[in-house]
This record gives sequence, C-alpha cells and structure tokens, in this order.
Amino acid sequence: MFILRGMPSAIRFDLRAPIESVPGVGPRRAGAFHGLGIQTIADLIRHLPARHEFEAAESRIADTPLGVVASVRGEVSATRVTLRGKKRFEAVLMDHTGRLDVVWFNGLYLRERVRVGETIRVQGKATKFKGGLQMVNPRVEFLDAGHDPSPGEERLRPVYPASEELNSREIERCVDRVLNDALAQIDDHLSDEFRRERELPSLRDAHRMMHRPANESEVLAARRRLAYDEFLMLQLGVQLKRAHQRRTLHAPALRWSPEIDRHIRERVPFTLTPGQEVVVKEVAKDLQQATPANRLIQGDVGAGKTVVALYAMLMAAASGRQAALMAPTEILAEQHHASIERMLEGSNVKVALLTGAATAAERASVLRRAAEGEIDILVGTHALLTGGVRFKSLAVAVIDEQHRFGVHQRAALREKSDEPGSAPHVLVMTATPIPRTLSLTIFGDLDVSTIKGLPPGRIPVTTRVVGPEKRDEVYAYLRERVERGEQAYVVVPAIDTGESDASESGGGKGLADLRSTMKRLEEGPLKGKRLAALHGRLKRATRERVMERFRLGQIDVLVATTVIEVGVDIPNASVMIVEHAERFGLAQLHQLRGRVGRGARRSLCVLIGEPATEDGAARLEALAESSDGFDLAEKDLELRGPGELFGARQSGLPPFRVATLPRDMDLLLMARRDAAAWIERSPALAEPAERLLRARLLRTHGQALGLGDVA
Ligand code: ADP
Ligand code: MG
Repeated sequence: MFILRGMPSAIRFDLRAPIESVPGVGPRRAGAFHGLGIQTIADLIRHLPARHEFEAAESRIADTPLGVVASVRGEVSATRVTLRGKKRFEAVLMDHTGRLDVVWFNGLYLRERVRVGETIRVQGKATKFKGGLQMVNPRVEFLDAGHDPSPGEERLRPVYPASEELNSREIERCVDRVLNDALAQIDDHLSDEFRRERELPSLRDAHRMMHRPANESEVLAARRRLAYDEFLMLQLGVQLKRAHQRRTLHAPALRWSPEIDRHIRERVPFTLTPGQEVVVKEVAKDLQQATPANRLIQGDVGAGKTVVALYAMLMAAASGRQAALMAPTEILAEQHHASIERMLEGSNVKVALLTGAATAAERASVLRRAAEGEIDILVGTHALLTGGVRFKSLAVAVIDEQHRFGVHQRAALREKSDEPGSAPHVLVMTATPIPRTLSLTIFGDLDVSTIKGLPPGRIPVTTRVVGPEKRDEVYAYLRERVERGEQAYVVVPAIDTGESDASESGGGKGLADLRSTMKRLEEGPLKGKRLAALHGRLKRATRERVMERFRLGQIDVLVATTVIEVGVDIPNASVMIVEHAERFGLAQLHQLRGRVGRGARRSLCVLIGEPATEDGAARLEALAESSDGFDLAEKDLELRGPGELFGARQSGLPPFRVATLPRDMDLLLMARRDAAAWIERSPALAEPAERLLRARLLRTHGQALGLGDVA
C-alpha cells in the first residue's frame, strides 16, 4: 500500500493552534497552561514528562506489587478520622485475598465519600508496614454503577511538570487528545541516514516515546535523541560563529623572538612553573598568527594566571601595539594595575587604569590616550566595554575571571580596535575552574589551556567546617593568631556582583551584616586589634587605602563582603573566616579560601555555617575534603546542575531541557564532533536540506550567540 505524501489529511489540531482549541480547555485551565509556559499545542508537545512511573495492572490485595504504582480495588470495611497530631483519614480496604490499610494525610475531606461498605479503587505505592500492607495518599476512584474502570494494563505513566492549578493527570489527558495529530506534523531536521548512523530515533518517534513510552528503553532512546539535539544545536551555533570569525576577522600577528622573550621574563620576579611555561608557549604561538586567538586559560586559584596575561600583553607592547585587561571588580582591576605597574617600573611601557570610579576628567584623559595609542596596557573593569573606549591598535584583550563575563563581552571587545579590519586576540582567564564538561558546551568556541600545578612552596590550607555555636571559639583562636602577627579576612555574605554596586538591593542587607559583624568583633573578641571594613560601596580612594594598608600589615583583620572573592592577592594573610558559609556556592567558597595560603605561613580557612539542606551540608563537606578546584567544580556541577553554576544571566544561553551533565557527556562529545564536521562541510548551513535545521538553530541560539550577522 502506498501512503501518498502531501495528501490533505484530517488534522484537527494544528501545532500552532492555541491551547484553548483543545476541547475541555476553558479560559481558567488555559490560564493554568500559560502559567506553565504553554501557549500552543506545540508548547504542549514540548512540555516533556519529568519522569515516568511504572503503573502496574490492577491486582488482588494479596498480590499488590511493592515499589511501583499499584492499583487495587476492594470494599471499605472500616474508617477512622484522627484530628490530633498529623491530621489524617484512614480506611481499611478488603478483598477476598487480604487487607490493605490506607492513610490520607490531611484527607479529612474524604470522610464524606469513602464510606464503609463501598467499593473503591486506589492507586499508589504500597509498602509493608507493621506486618501489614499500607498505602499512603493514594489516588482514589469511586466505583459505582456508572463507573467501573477496566482493570487496565501495566504501563509507564508520564509525570509532567505541573502546578497547583493543573496536575499531571490533567496535562496527560490533554496530551492524549492532541498527540497523534501533533506527531504527524513534526518534521525532522536530521536526515534518515544521519540518524541511522547514530542510532537516533526520529523527532516524531522521540516525542511519541517520551509522552507514551511502551517501555523503559523507549524513554531512554527518546531522551537520547532530544538531549543530542540540544547539544548539537548549541555546538552548531558556536562553531558556525567561530567559522565565520575565522573567515572574516584578522588579528595583528605579533612578533616573538628569544630576545623579546628574555625582556619579558626579566620583568617577572620569579621563575615560571612548568605549568605556566606550557601555557605561555601556547599563547605565544597563538599571538603570532593573523587569525584572532580565542583562548580560555584556566588554572586553580593561585595557579598564577596573571603572569600569563602579562606575557601576552607585553608581546603586544613589543610589537608596538596595545593590550587591555578587564577584571570583574574594581578592587581586582586596581590590584592588577598596581602590580603591573610595580613589575614594569622603569620600563617605557605605559599602563593606565579605567574603572567606573574614574572622574570625568580622568576618564576623558584615558580615552584620549588610548585612542591615540599612548597607553600600552589599559587595565579596567567592564567600563572598558563602554562605547567611548577606542584603541588605536588593540592587539590583545584579556578578560580575567570569565565566569562573570559572557559571550557578549568578548564580542564587544573584538570591536574596540580602530585599526581597519583588525580584531584583537582574546584571552579569557578563569579561576572558577570550569569542569571540562561545561567548558565544552558553554565555551565550545574557545581553545582551552590549563595551568597545571601551583607555584612552589605553597602549603595546603587547612579547612574546618563548624556550626555557629563554635563562633566564639573560632574568634578567640583568631585573636591568638593575630597576636602572633598573622592577618585575616572575615567574609560576610552580600549579594554584591562587583559589577555594579548600586544595582543590587540585596547588597544592603550584606552591608548591615558587615556592620554588625564589625561591631561585634571590635567590642568583643578582637577588641584593641586593627580592623577595617571593605565593601563595594566605599569610595575608590578609601578602598585603595584600605587594601594598601592591609598589604603593608597595618590592618590585622579585614572584614569584607564578597568583593574580595576573586583575584585578591595578599600573601601575608593566612586566616579566612567565612560567616554564613551555607549561603555561598561551592565555587565561591573555594575562591574565598584561595585568598589565603599564598605565603609561607600555614593557613586556615574556617567556614561557619548552618546548612539547612543536605545539598548545603554536602557542599561544605566537599570543601573540607578537597582543595582541588577542578574536583570541586565537578562536584558542584553534580550537586547543583549546570543551570545554577552558569545561570542564564552569566552565559546568556538558554538552559537545557533534557540534557544533563555530566551524565550525557558521551552525547555532548558526539554532538561536538558532528557539529565540527558539519560546519566544515557546510560553513554557512545554507543548503536547501538545512533550512529547517537553520531556522531552529536561529530560534534557539540566534540571539544569545549573536548569529544574526552570520546566518
Ligand atoms: P591566579 O591564578 O589566582 O590569578 P595569581 O596570578 O594572582 O594567581 O598568582 C598568585 C600568586 O602567586 C601571586 O602572588 C603571584 O605573584 C605568585 N606566583 C605566580 N606565579 C609564580 C611562580 N612561578 N613562582 C612563584 N610565585 C608565583
Ligand atoms: Mg587571578
């Protein structure tokens, strides 16, 4: 028999039709669907079950299976209402094989309906309880003359993400109505052959198997296809962009010679570690090319990334061109500026600083000198990205601490050079070690260098996790160490992005915490010691003075918000105390801990916390157990999921709906390889057969990845 394609078929539900067009969906229910982000039938079909529950066929009470959703019918032989303690309604259900005790917590409303002598059917998970069989909070059906459901067959029931207004069963019923029609309209953007090679089901089958699986392996196959698609789309987007840049952007090929190398190294007050050597070589090679480098340099906290940045920037200066270094906070920008100036003292390389704290006159002067090529190295915050900043010939742009800067910032920096047709080499540094799994997805467009190991002589930091009841002890001990000439940080949580101190109202609470902590310490355990507060709202001059005095040992304890989270480098500080540690993320705590252990002293990090959740406790424990940032990052990823670690705000990318890392790592690698080969073959995705793929790609990632100019 032939099936004629293109024949008008009797499709009742168009994918684009609003959800209200499904019978039974009135205005109220439609509102509930909208609340779940479902406007159209297509949205409904994309609303995938979060999981599936095995639902057994109806059984006799004695044969009730355990651990799955069982279905049992019987006669109510007794009921009881309990009002004390946990309010509950209980019923005893009997058939000729045995007895089932049923409990509905808060189920008092059932007492009018579940009456002795009636036959009902319950669906839920049964457990053995005190020798008998028990079911807690099952679904109940009342069987009477008009309603006598068939015993049914076993199946996998989809459990949909639901809401108070709309439960999973209602969504399921709605999907049932439209599924066949909807499936018939789903076209695939991957060819049969492509799918066959990878043993992936069609998009149509994948949706059918997700909503109505015949068995577990169908769920797995469907998930595999959908997760693969998510990775493929992202990888195609990223690599499409990259291929486009390779073709259209040119960068200054910088000079390198043993002599230049020697001059640069003379400026560095230490010998590079083997790990730094490897990365410096990779970078030097990149910068000698006429295509813009796009490289992520990762290394654990304290691994010594700054010197690699300096090397790159001095290569630019050696070729008579400019470099920019962008840091996520003013404090860090100021510190980089100060330390680079120290190292370059007496050389003819001109260094300048530009942050949001600059006065109008300072800013105007910096802008003019950058545009005229008088500044060789410009250090700054995101203020570097603002419109007025132009360079005569920007050859190297370094972004420190990438986790605060996304794809857009890199794009903005690329356009800063006034040299016609020229884009800078971009280096991105991160001390929040990005698990390999993530760097492949989110930074799929970057080459990656990793600085292995730490500079010599570092003594590992001892980490202790304690509850608030130990606080007095902790500070008494801190006093002892301060009296021995050590310096410390005390960090209180504050929602302080550092990018814009005025923007986050949460920072206010942080400041209140900071003030009260200061007061408590000054009047109590640290009375007579030299304390200073540090936070993002201080005037720049004040902040710089505080940092300088701390560096010179004129302050014993710096009580700070998270402004010191990244980058701050004061080797004499050897104690870090974090208050309310449960409010910080794992990566953040690792960063904070990284502020100590930089000098010759044995350092200590105390996390005072009261985690309210198991995950919270696991986070603090993980930190006490490991000092390896890469380990911790993988752990963090498991605990929180990539969405948390790299919120949409940071990466600018839509979250995955099906794919999960690290579980789907193999799919990610496959998608990455496939995308690379694809773009190699078809660099603009402009073939007629690619129309659907291209449209879907633009819809998902066009904006976040800035694909507008590419496709
Ligand atoms: P991060 O990778 O966290 O940015 P930094 O670049 O701030 O690390 O370096 C941390 C500290 O280690 C700094 O005080 C720096 O001067 C020092 N350092 C970096 N490399 C070396 C090295 N090869 N030998 C000795 N000290 C080093
Ligand atoms: Mg750093």
